[in-house]
Order: sequence, then C-alpha cells, then structure tokens
Amino acid sequence: METLWSDPAAWQALLGGWRFNFTAELLRYGLVATAMWVLLHVLLKRRLAGRVIDGWPSAGDLRREIGYSIGTLFVFGALGMAVFALVITGHAEIYREPARHGWAWYVLSLPAMLLWHDAYFYWTHRLLHRPWWLRHVHGVHHRSRQPSPFAAYAFHPVEALINGLVTPLALLVVPLHWHVLVAFSLHQIVRNAHGHAAVEIMPRGFVRHAVWGRFTTTTHHHLHHETARGNYGLWFTWWDRWCGTERSDYLARFDATTGAARAP
Ligand SMILES: [Zn+2]
Ligand SMILES: [Zn+2]
Repeated sequence: METLWSDPAAWQALLGGWRFNFTAELLRYGLVATAMWVLLHVLLKRRLAGRVIDGWPSAGDLRREIGYSIGTLFVFGALGMAVFALVITGHAEIYREPARHGWAWYVLSLPAMLLWHDAYFYWTHRLLHRPWWLRHVHGVHHRSRQPSPFAAYAFHPVEALINGLVTPLALLVVPLHWHVLVAFSLHQIVRNAHGHAAVEIMPRGFVRHAVWGRFTTTTHHHLHHETARGNYGLWFTWWDRWCGTERSDYLARFDATTGAARAP
C-alpha cells in the first residue's frame, strides 16, 4: 500500500479509474434514463394515459432528480476508483478469461450478484426508513412522489455511497468477470429507470403469475414513493413477502392500472 500511495503513476491510474467510472455511469444513466423518459413520457404519453399509476412527474421533479443524480455520479466515480485501488493492491479480482474460476462461476456469478444486491438493498433500505435516516438522508429520494426515470440515481450522497458499495463489497469476497460487472450494471440501470417510470407497462396478470409475480414492477416501487411505507424490495418481491412489508393494495393497484389500459 505504501508504495502505491507514494507513487505518482499509481495516483494517475486511480484518477483514470475515477474518470472511467464517472464517464461510464454518466453514459449509462444519461442514455437509459433519457431513452426511457422519451419513450414513455413523450412519444407514448397519450397511448399510456390509462396506465399512469398515480400522476406524471412535474418539470421541477425532473430538474431535482437530474441534479441529485449528477451528485451520485461523482460518488460512484469515487467508488470506481476505490475498486481500482483494491484490484491493483490485490484485494479484489476482476478477471478476463471466463474459465479462470470455472465456467460454473462465470455463469452463476450474475444471478448470485442479483440475489446479493436484492438482499443488500432491501435491508439497507429498511435502515434508511428509520426516522433519522429518512429525515436526513433518504428523504431526498422520497421528494419524488411521482418519480420519473431520472429518479434512478436521485440520492443524497450518503445514500449513493451506501447503494454504490454493493459491488466493492462483493469484490472483497469473490472474483468477478468483467462481463458480469457490465451485465450487472446494465441490468441495474434499466430496471432502476423502469421502476421509476410512473406508468405500468407490464401485461395484465403479471403480478399474479407464479414466476413473473416474483419480479418487482413499476407499480411496486411507485406505491413505495407514494406513501414511503412498504414495498422496500428492489428486483424481487420475496423479501417484502417474507418480512410482511408488501403493501396490501399492491396487487389491486396493479390490476386497476393495467385493467384501465386503453386497447392498443
Ligand atoms: Zn425510488
Ligand atoms: Zn424508500
């Protein structure tokens, strides 16, 4: 470590890691959230009018969400630099050859990461809803009562740090192929932006299906924003069901929104 911190070349490399991660996150967030907003809130706005869960976000909501999200990009950039430091000091491994740790791990590490992220988010989110945390930290995200896809990264910097630690913590324990990290971050931003879309685009009956019902929907997270109570889960519905925190009106609200959809 001592040699790393006293070496200007290492600092250059770390700054490069910061720039790389900041730019990658900026592109991912900017492109995905903008595409989702243009598609659902502009191009298909009239067609999806019957599928609005509660209401459209205002221009002020969008500006605030984008502002906080830019702050989050700085935090994620710093975390990328921290991952870079862990890798070059040998505390973490991001590998290139798929077979290096076995094909089974190459294939299973993405589902494992999704399960880990889902559990990590659920329990840190429950913590963020403790009164002090909600007032001083998580309240920033809950200022969006009718969120837009730009709310995907609209966090207080402390919450951005908590959320962003999910990958560095995993890398301290297991090696990950770079394909897995790319797929993990793309899945994350697409479903995150979709979860804040304010309109329900999943088909009728989705939430009552034996398999699909285990995946969260936009309605699931929108109801969380509506009252800041219940539906704390991220990708799957099971933690809320196991812990009795799923909103009792979830299925009925989903049915009401999808049932009111206009015929295409
Ligand atoms: Zn949210
Ligand atoms: Zn919350």
